Amino acid sequence: MRWSKTYIPTLRNVSSEAELISHQYLLRSGYIRRLAAGIYSYLPLMQRVIDKVSTIVREEMDASGAIEILMPVLHPAEVWKKSGRWDKIGKELIRLKDRHGREMALGPTHEEVITSLVAGELKSYKQMPLNMYQIQTKFRDEIRPRFGLMRGREFLMKDAYSFDVDFEAHKIAYKKMVEAYFNVFNRCGVAAKKVESDTGAMGGTGAHEFMVLVETDGGEETILSCASCDYAANVEKAVFRELNPTTQDSEQKELEKVDTPNATTIEEITKFLNLPASKFAKTVIYLADGKPVAAIVRGDRQINEVKLSNHLGCLELVMAGPEKVMEITTAPVGFAGPVGLTIPIVADTEIATMVNFVTGANKADKHLLNVNINRDFKPGDTVDIKNAPVGEGCSRCENGVLEEFRGIEVGNTFSLGTKYSETLGGKYLDDKSKENPYFMGSYGIGITRTAQAAIEKYHDDKGIIWPKTIAPYQIILCPLNMTNDEQVVVADKIYADLTAAGLEVLYDDRKERAGVKFNDADLIGIPLRIALGNKSLADGKVELKLRSEADVEMTDINSVVEKSKELLQRAI
Ligand code: ATP
Ligand code: MG
Repeated sequence: MRWSKTYIPTLRNVSSEAELISHQYLLRSGYIRRLAAGIYSYLPLMQRVIDKVSTIVREEMDASGAIEILMPVLHPAEVWKKSGRWDKIGKELIRLKDRHGREMALGPTHEEVITSLVAGELKSYKQMPLNMYQIQTKFRDEIRPRFGLMRGREFLMKDAYSFDVDFEAHKIAYKKMVEAYFNVFNRCGVAAKKVESDTGAMGGTGAHEFMVLVETDGGEETILSCASCDYAANVEKAVFRELNPTTQDSEQKELEKVDTPNATTIEEITKFLNLPASKFAKTVIYLADGKPVAAIVRGDRQINEVKLSNHLGCLELVMAGPEKVMEITTAPVGFAGPVGLTIPIVADTEIATMVNFVTGANKADKHLLNVNINRDFKPGDTVDIKNAPVGEGCSRCENGVLEEFRGIEVGNTFSLGTKYSETLGGKYLDDKSKENPYFMGSYGIGITRTAQAAIEKYHDDKGIIWPKTIAPYQIILCPLNMTNDEQVVVADKIYADLTAAGLEVLYDDRKERAGVKFNDADLIGIPLRIALGNKSLADGKVELKLRSEADVEMTDINSVVEKSKELLQRAI
């Protein structure tokens, strides 16, 4: 493709709204343009990247035995109501009405639609295993669309759905998808890590996420991973084993109220009472779907709101504001405690192992010493509601310690069990003519997010460094003087030879200065640059340079094709 014949509107500067470097580069290098928050057009270079990622995804899905289909984007509300997600999914679902006033939604995912699609027709055990997928634009009214294609309100996703006769058969389908996912991400050059994850609004019995590890702000997810074994989990889900359990008193002491003027934070109160944070229990008042509930964790732990809201089964969990806290605890924020509270209490499992701990006294400037669970207060439930801290022990192996990473979630896999088949009439007859619901799985890959994740992982201060498998072109050909007819003849010939050899070449045929061409070539991130100058041509040579390496190599014009292939092998 000739630069002059395509559309690559590169920019010097981009608006400050683009926080991530990958987002800035996508805008600057003319890959995408914003129409509204979280809504983008994909320009010619981006479209080629999307095609590359999609082709890899298709090849791996097909190889795993999944079959491509395409389902509607516009969904009638009924299917969403049947599954119960019309209410549960909340404001992320984009809802609209047709001309007859019927409620509709724009598809954010397709469990409901695909189950309705097969229900009644996929009716024999002989028709399974079955796995069908599509690549399609999804719509989600994200609360905070940001980071360009990373969290859009409209984005491209590959979603696959498996149907099996029972859990054992489902596990085989799941394993196949996991293998296909590793292949996809390896081939895209982003080597994703598989981690255990929360099932969230999807429901079901188990889930994994595939994360591209990055050290930038693009890594929205926090991952805890064992340094010794293969345990890895999203912080939303991660568990741990306490390495050095704190010693506890052997006997319960008498409850005592003490003055703690102005000590509202754990830091202040530990200093004031000269006790470690592990001797405290902090109480946080939440509103779960509007109803107050108190959550208690050890002073040195963090409340995990995903675990807490999963336990409560609520749609919305927010911390209560100061006025509400005053109303419930009769004290300002910072002095809440479980003793005497009349609202439901959820205590973390560690609280049950603590003896004589400190809590707020539900009175300004007062705390209670020697509080004990069950004696002084009775929680409604005692469950794990805390984050796993980095440096603590791995719960799966004996010696492992948890490390923390940041990642971009590029894909995920869910075991759905029979949740959707049961609510949407997905039943089959087994070999004894008995009716059973299918066991389903659902598997997503963010096509556009994966592309941007590659940039977040591979770039420098000059621009993008695409992995060669998903780069829009493999080679950028830069004749440095387009007004020199001789040079143009040679460039045309090289372009024709490379193209004939099956290589994808962007021919920078603009009458621009060398500096401009080189800067643009670096910015748009094409893996191999071939430059032709008057001087080198006089010696019958051209200059080759990999985007990922600093050195340039001179090669004979006659061996450009061979040398390019050789260098591309080495490119990332
Ligand atoms: P997240 O936790 O990041 O919101 P999710 O759990 O909602 O993701 P899924 O519903 O499982 O994601 O979607 C499958 C894949 O689609 C994700 O792994 C991700 O790669 C991609 N994806 C999800 N939401 C977005 C979005 N708003 N913009 C771009 N890609 C997205
Ligand atoms: Mg989401």
